[in-house]
Amino acid sequence: MSEVVDLARALVRYDTTNTSDDGATGNERPAAEFVAERLADAGFQPVYLESAPKRGNVVVRLPGADPSRGALLVHGHLDVVPADASEWSVPPFAGEIRDGYLWGRGAIDMKHMVAMALAVARRFKRDNIVPPRDLVFAFVADEEAGGRQGAGWLVEQHRGLFDGVTEAISEVGGFSYTVRDDVRAYLVETAEKGVMWLRLKVRGTPGHGSMLHTDNPVAKLTKALARLESHEFPQVLHPAVRDFLAGVSDLTGVAFDPDDPQAAVARLGSLSRMIGATLRDTANTTMLKAGYKANVVPSVAEATVDGRMLPGRERAFERELAEVLGPDVEMDWDMLPPVETTFDGRLVDAMAAAIDAEDPGARLLPYMLSAGTDAKSFQRLGIRHFGFAPLRLPPDLNFTALFHGIDERVPLDGLEFGERVLDRLLRTC
Ligand SMILES: [Zn+2]
Repeated sequence: MSEVVDLARALVRYDTTNTSDDGATGNERPAAEFVAERLADAGFQPVYLESAPKRGNVVVRLPGADPSRGALLVHGHLDVVPADASEWSVPPFAGEIRDGYLWGRGAIDMKHMVAMALAVARRFKRDNIVPPRDLVFAFVADEEAGGRQGAGWLVEQHRGLFDGVTEAISEVGGFSYTVRDDVRAYLVETAEKGVMWLRLKVRGTPGHGSMLHTDNPVAKLTKALARLESHEFPQVLHPAVRDFLAGVSDLTGVAFDPDDPQAAVARLGSLSRMIGATLRDTANTTMLKAGYKANVVPSVAEATVDGRMLPGRERAFERELAEVLGPDVEMDWDMLPPVETTFDGRLVDAMAAAIDAEDPGARLLPYMLSAGTDAKSFQRLGIRHFGFAPLRLPPDLNFTALFHGIDERVPLDGLEFGERVLDRLLRTC
């Protein structure tokens, strides 16, 4: 078994489930200690830090040839979202290898990248390879709850670890998308939507459920949520989305009309749900809470809405939500801002060269992620973010459905491919 597969399998076997939405619970410690030990074995002196009991984070720096150049951060999160074993074909934390895949929660989100980064870091240290610029490797807790115990905490409490870092690579990007027979694009995330987790509250007049009621908070809230459900936020064609759709059009030969991006999105197959969500803001109701007895109208009803806005739409999104929900609905929220950078520069050129060396003729395309990552924390230090966790995928694998999905798995040959690409990139970045 190759080292990267071995490492990925070992990492999947640590149950690092992050159950909360507020970062209050979680246990990355055994996985973080494993990472720190593997780095120490190779000769590093890693920094191990816990933001709270069991919330382990590991950071290490490998000095580069030219200290005047900004450092590159390679980061990956150690936590995973819950998995219900009864829904899976294999036990989700067993690290089973079957049919050429490593199966398990975290196999693609994102212990595969942690394993690749770890394997490359170990090789560079063992073989005394000096990268062109400083490399900082960070393996962090709590991404799945917004990073307050991981990336966010490191940025606030230990920012010195990231001195001189100008750019970062991590999830979600670098994976292949088969455009047509044997023509592959590799998607590089250059932008991601902002997150607004909204807590909604409606107050009303409580009383006996048998009587006439005109001020029922449950009724008022559900009407407001129904308005939100049928509301469509304005379409905005961000440069990352436009360049992605135009690039796919180049590769397929099917013309792209910028006035009708929806048509181009509809042709994307399994990617269309995610790319479609980057054409506009979205707001999906995810939780409801009201009442305690069948014959009592309660005084309050509450809901949680998962709002996602495009870069530059923060204030407009907030205003539009308030307008659609109406004056009865009290809104309170946590916001993680959008992230965006341009698709250019020496690092992007090195990514393209590394991909081309391993998959000749493939094309790199920028895109916008509909979700959020730890890039939101690291951008507070002025770091440019690229989603680039290289992975070659078989054409029929519905990759985006595996994120937080059932039977999450990573192809072993794709993982080894990714490690080779990352190795090349970090020697030439
Ligand atoms: Zn992730």
